[in-house]
Amino acid sequence: MKVVAIAEERKTKIFEIPKPEPGPGQVLIRIHACALCTFEQRVFTQTTKKALPYVGGHELAGVIEELGEGVDEESFPVGAKAAARVLKNCGTCYYCRRGQENLCKGAYAKSAAAAGTLTPNGLGEYIAVDANQVFLLADDISYEQAVFVEPFACVLNSIERGQIELGDDVVVIGGGVMGILHVIGAKMSGARVILSEPDQARAEMAKRFGADIVLNPVEIDVVKEVKKITNGEGANVVFNTTPVTALASQAIEMTAMMGRMVQYSSMHPDNPVEVSPNYIHNTEIVITGSKSPSVKAFDVSARVLSKKIVNLEPLLTESYAMEEADKAFERALSTETYRVMIRF
Ligand SMILES: [Zn+2]
Ligand SMILES: [Zn+2]
Repeated sequence: MKVVAIAEERKTKIFEIPKPEPGPGQVLIRIHACALCTFEQRVFTQTTKKALPYVGGHELAGVIEELGEGVDEESFPVGAKAAARVLKNCGTCYYCRRGQENLCKGAYAKSAAAAGTLTPNGLGEYIAVDANQVFLLADDISYEQAVFVEPFACVLNSIERGQIELGDDVVVIGGGVMGILHVIGAKMSGARVILSEPDQARAEMAKRFGADIVLNPVEIDVVKEVKKITNGEGANVVFNTTPVTALASQAIEMTAMMGRMVQYSSMHPDNPVEVSPNYIHNTEIVITGSKSPSVKAFDVSARVLSKKIVNLEPLLTESYAMEEADKAFERALSTETYRVMIRF
């Protein structure tokens, strides 16, 4: 089978490797599409150093092709569409048992071990995954929608961390694809959503997905404006979807008393910011983060997208054949695109 690996800085290569066999309890998926996440984009540019070659890809969707020993045929019918969660989920650690498998101690062990090897991953024709990590999708779901199961699951985990209540004011900082998915999640949770985003096209896209107010942080003082809109209180929940540490400070400043600030994006570079403990004391705000999707978030995402409760296809900007993977990565890096996928 073929895999697309990042072979050197800004260069991918197609390699032939043996098609994986589904082991006991595993499901073999014939991958039809995989979107390019920021993580893989950073490995492509080597901003995130990983031993190469590296077969990335975790935003995959395809069809169940074969079942390993002991997998129930009715629960995982051959020919059914499916997405897969490729993080490790040991099932026995403290975090797995609390339903926060995204924090499983071994979550990234597979990805770390795969660096420098041609281990099957999302960017290839087949992958064998444990059945408990396979999520069935509706037969009529498009791959343009299906590749969002993983990224939307990441966002739903973040939305859960935000604990939005009906009628809350929510600020989303950053209108990239993750920011817009936060706008969608916050709207579904019954909030008034304010987006902070300077780019006009992104602002328009966010409005199309329900953003109530879009503020341009280049033109105005967003903290002041959010306070003004919320009668001086600030927002009940603020999500920072950008990797900019200065904006993390801004996010804390615009959070209302008893509110929650969720640091969604990982930071590149990770410059520390000053936080006043007295401010936390006086306001009782909660500062938290969100990393990867829990199993529950993945399951909810698969259901919401299968039922087309929201149509994310407009966020899938471009699609490429695996032979055009270099172009796909370059386009994914461009601010003109939201998500770019490779077809297999
Ligand atoms: Zn992702
Ligand atoms: Zn675990």
